Amino acid sequence: MKTEIRSGGDWHEAAKRYIEEGEVVAFHTETVYGLGANAFDDGAVLKIFSLKGRPADNPLIVHVHKSYDISRLIDGEPSYAAALRKAYLPGPLTMVYPSIGKVSKYVSCGLNTLAIRVPSSPCAQEFLREVNLPIAAPSANLSKHVSPVTAQHVYDDFAGKIPLIIDGGACQGGIESTVLDCTGDVPKILREGLVTREMIAKVAGSCELYRAKAGEKPKSPGMAYQHYSPRCRTAYFSSPEKARECYFEEQKQGGSPYLLCENALLPAFSGLKVYDLGKTGEEMARNLYALLRRAEREATLLVAVEPKEHGGVMAGVLNRLHRAFGVIV
Ligand code: AMP
Ligand code: MG
Repeated sequence: MKTEIRSGGDWHEAAKRYIEEGEVVAFHTETVYGLGANAFDDGAVLKIFSLKGRPADNPLIVHVHKSYDISRLIDGEPSYAAALRKAYLPGPLTMVYPSIGKVSKYVSCGLNTLAIRVPSSPCAQEFLREVNLPIAAPSANLSKHVSPVTAQHVYDDFAGKIPLIIDGGACQGGIESTVLDCTGDVPKILREGLVTREMIAKVAGSCELYRAKAGEKPKSPGMAYQHYSPRCRTAYFSSPEKARECYFEEQKQGGSPYLLCENALLPAFSGLKVYDLGKTGEEMARNLYALLRRAEREATLLVAVEPKEHGGVMAGVLNRLHRAFGVIV
């Protein structure tokens, strides 16, 4: 199969046709690129799992355009959920509701809930409006690999396997959406992202961070898996001095190490090969995956230093960093 990358207005008709035929189409969002299929179509949804090599118990998020009536898919919502939708959607916030089971049973992998997202990217909105169907879409990367933030990243993982990539440029958010459980009295964050715990609590009154207790089946199965790993060796330090030692050791062995750190640490590593994550949480979120993919091409060993700031957006950035570098927290 030939994989086309299309941008501008040149993809509408083809995208609609492919989705109606049960094909899988990759599309730009403000977080990362998605790999989308008709959420009502069992065969199309299963295709997503096999293309990605995604575990069969890791549910998918359904994407809809901003005028789509989600009451067609869910069994009511608490009042805080309506307030959050008003405050933050369209945007990088996925909300988990009780499902009425209208979409393919493979979307939620047997859970009685449904995760819904309304992306703000104009490109995603155009696509969703064109097809006017709920689109089940995980990130458009092979399972465990780094999530894609450019059309080229999607092409690198799926060339020859999908017919179309809708190119909306580089993703400005850079990490996956916040996933929020809206089935209880208090909203619970299942995955941290650009809509922060503080932002949710401000509108909903309170917000908890969900952590599976020992032995308990996680509410968001995806969080149990290793994720986002670059295909090069990695090391992770909280101490810049230790990171520097590790860098020089790799160099001594004839390797090509790179450091990955926040902007404030650049002077400490002057003269070394360094990827600059950025200054703010938003910048670090935007840069992280592109740098991990770049390291795969350039580095034999990627040595990261933990950023200092941990609050707000950084909670999401640190979650991705820890998973990419296999750090147990
Ligand atoms: P991805 O689409 O690859 O960014 O991953 C989607 C994330 O949303 C995973 O962590 C899933 O476990 C989570 N998710 C999707 N649907 C549900 C659901 N119904 N309940 C809880 N978590 C979900
Ligand atoms: Mg993913």
